[in-house]
Amino acid sequence: MVKINENYLKLPGSYLFSEVARRIKVYSDAHPDAKITKLSIGDVTRPLVPAVVEAMHQAVTEMGTTEGFHGYGPEQGYDFLRDVIAQYDYRDRGVDIDPEEIFVSDGAKSDCGNIGDIFGVDNVVAVCDPVYPVYVDTNAMAGRAGEYQEELGRWNKLVYMPCVQENGFTPVPPQEKVDIIYLCFPNNPTGAVASRAQLKAWVDYANENGSVILFDSAYEAFITEDDIPHTIFEIEGARTCAIEFRSFSKTAGFTGTRCAYTVVPKELNRDGASLNKLWNRRQCTKFNGVPYVIQRAAAAVYTPEGREQTRANIAYYQKNAQVIREGLSQAGFTVFGGANAPYIWVKAPHNMGSWDFFDLLLDRAHVATTPGVGFGPSGEGYIRLTAFGDAEATAQAVARIQALAHHK
Ligand code: PLP
Repeated sequence: MVKINENYLKLPGSYLFSEVARRIKVYSDAHPDAKITKLSIGDVTRPLVPAVVEAMHQAVTEMGTTEGFHGYGPEQGYDFLRDVIAQYDYRDRGVDIDPEEIFVSDGAKSDCGNIGDIFGVDNVVAVCDPVYPVYVDTNAMAGRAGEYQEELGRWNKLVYMPCVQENGFTPVPPQEKVDIIYLCFPNNPTGAVASRAQLKAWVDYANENGSVILFDSAYEAFITEDDIPHTIFEIEGARTCAIEFRSFSKTAGFTGTRCAYTVVPKELNRDGASLNKLWNRRQCTKFNGVPYVIQRAAAAVYTPEGREQTRANIAYYQKNAQVIREGLSQAGFTVFGGANAPYIWVKAPHNMGSWDFFDLLLDRAHVATTPGVGFGPSGEGYIRLTAFGDAEATAQAVARIQALAHHK
């Protein structure tokens, strides 16, 4: 009789987004005339830019010719893409990353989830609270998280680092020793960023303790402030303790196109093994590369036209973020994030819980949000709004929330 991976049975149901969808449906069924604006979605809405579309067309045409046909490509990605990533995302920022340290993939979600393959089961894992749920669930699946404690909303073997108003939603290294540290800046869900000094403290901690930082910078493109690091490798010492995940999803609207990459420096060794080599071995065994057409599309993001056009799309979302942040703060809400991130983290008024505030905004302003508690216990009392929607619908939604606040 086959034995299953029993860790899967310990996972709580994916309660958050299904419960959000259920409540929206119940409300819409009861109020068919209500037009709900979804500021809950974490998906982009702007179309692919012309430079990308053109590159894809060209690559498709090539694939239909004998000379231009591409079969299996290198598992790590084509040189034409790894070279421009190294140039534009790193060297242009004064950070020396070798193309051989870049592994192109089909998504940061896959990479964040798969990276656990190269680490033992007995490592102590630290996550932010609230957090992008993929880090937690994939460690639970691998048996690193222990048992889920329903009443606390947390796993007993994970170290949760509260990200709260008092620490500016950016945790400091813990007293205890942790081995694997997930950091995500700009942050989903709080929209917080980490300063150079804060990241330096983490890098020093990781080097001193032999830990590894898994740095998710999927939202790097949304950084506006000058002194905020765009990559962990801007921090001295990071090459011996950090792995970085990047994605074209939010940078260039690739959520449905699928392309991302992971950087594993050659100096990163643990237990006498090179993590670059282990990740290479893992990818070569379990992954057969990103389609040629998609990698051509991703490379087009770095052309002068591609850069200008994608920057305009980011600016569109940044404007939405500003409208939400300023609009809600004018209405008297306590608002965080949104300045260097597409997420706005709003404190529920009058000590309301996340779900009560969610219901209130759905019912009275016809705006769907995401309850903060769904991202971890420390998210209780907050909701997350996203800037990825249509500009006009976003502005109207903000106006309805303002009207609600003034009528109270
Ligand atoms: N990392 C974070 C923090 C995210 O919020 C998301 C998507 O929402 C991802 C990674 C996934 O990115 P990708 O589309 O490249 O899988």
